[in-house]
Amino acid sequence: MKTLRLRAGKERSLLRRHPWIFESAIAKGGGDSGETVRVESHEGQFLAWAAYSPSSRIRARVWSFDEAQRIDAPFFIAACARSIIARARFDVQSDGVRLVHGESDGLPGLIVDRYGDTLVAQFTSAGTERWKGVIADALLRETGLTKLYERSDASVRSLEGLEPATGWLRGGPTGAAGDGEGPPLELTIREHQWRLTLNIAEGHKTGFYLDQRDSRQRFADYTQRLGFKHVLNCFCYTGGFSVAALAGMRAAGTVADGHVTSIDSSGPALERARAHVALNGFDPNRATFLDADVNASLRQFLKEGQRFDAIILDPPKFAPTAAHAERAARAYKDINRLALQLLSPGGVLFTFSCSGGISADLFHKIVASAGADAGVDGYILERLGGAPDHPMTLEFPEGEYLKGLVVMRKS
Ligand code: SAH
Repeated sequence: MKTLRLRAGKERSLLRRHPWIFESAIAKGGGDSGETVRVESHEGQFLAWAAYSPSSRIRARVWSFDEAQRIDAPFFIAACARSIIARARFDVQSDGVRLVHGESDGLPGLIVDRYGDTLVAQFTSAGTERWKGVIADALLRETGLTKLYERSDASVRSLEGLEPATGWLRGGPTGAAGDGEGPPLELTIREHQWRLTLNIAEGHKTGFYLDQRDSRQRFADYTQRLGFKHVLNCFCYTGGFSVAALAGMRAAGTVADGHVTSIDSSGPALERARAHVALNGFDPNRATFLDADVNASLRQFLKEGQRFDAIILDPPKFAPTAAHAERAARAYKDINRLALQLLSPGGVLFTFSCSGGISADLFHKIVASAGADAGVDGYILERLGGAPDHPMTLEFPEGEYLKGLVVMRKS
């Protein structure tokens, strides 16, 4: 059995059950990529079982803090089962559900989403890569499903020295050469009271942003209650917030006078967003889709003197790590300043950051300073986060990647 011996004093985070062991904490030892190693303090005291990752700065990720635990197939079956059972207790109003959320579920580097009867998984660590077959079987066994598609094409894989990998892992094309047609890649899910489609092979991440599910519902609620008619959805991807806005208008009985403008720089995403308007029974004239850069569009709208009752800003990850925080902060501040200027008095901004490198506190400060620059004062109506199936845990503060603020312009 291979061992990792830590430097003196470097055991503290493990004793608090944080699952990462950085390269700089290690005195000696190692293993092959993904191999299970016994992690010990400088004095040789057992700390954890972890998966070794020879090329990552996060040199090992913990599977278990229990010395008696064996890291084998039953371990992965039990971990997947725990994670899936927890979802039954979370409030998830959709048949698109995140079943496993990495470190938060004790499985570092594993993301599993279920879309109806299809599972989509990302294996982004050396440890999950090594146990891929065992994990795939455990997921099928614990869900009772048969189809599992792999989307291990996230850029973080390269930090672990792993090549991208995509395709059916289980339940794929049959036939002698495995070249039959295969299960559908194009799927439809029901989220809250609307329907949305995705392509698990081509969409972002595993195909869809499940983490914003409940913020989309919140947006529909605000639209209904406050009677928003003129909505701007920036970074709309496949238009989930646009459909939510129209659903809120329909519930308020104002959809006939309403309008949603949606902006994204991805043509295929916009095409799908447009299709979602029709799929949910809305008049296509109620929605406009712009293939454009958000920053440039916001400036253009300001020049034209446009105003909106509500604006959504849900940009991509500007700061993957804290090292990118400064430049990212400027980018966030810019779009928030422009958006606040474009709001009518009493109008509402839903603004988000999904950057792990920007804390909730820093994001709050960035939006505050955008308000100061815009000369706009606002009420912070609420703070938002990821949907409950993307849980944060007590031990792993990095799990708080998605944060949002709902700001109402005062005057
Ligand atoms: N709100 C969406 C998810 C947004 S993901 C939802 O609920 O599903 C971020 C989106 O920003 C992606 O679709 C990406 O294509 C788009 N994007 C990235 N940079 C952009 C830019 N400069 N201008 C416009 N869109 C951009």
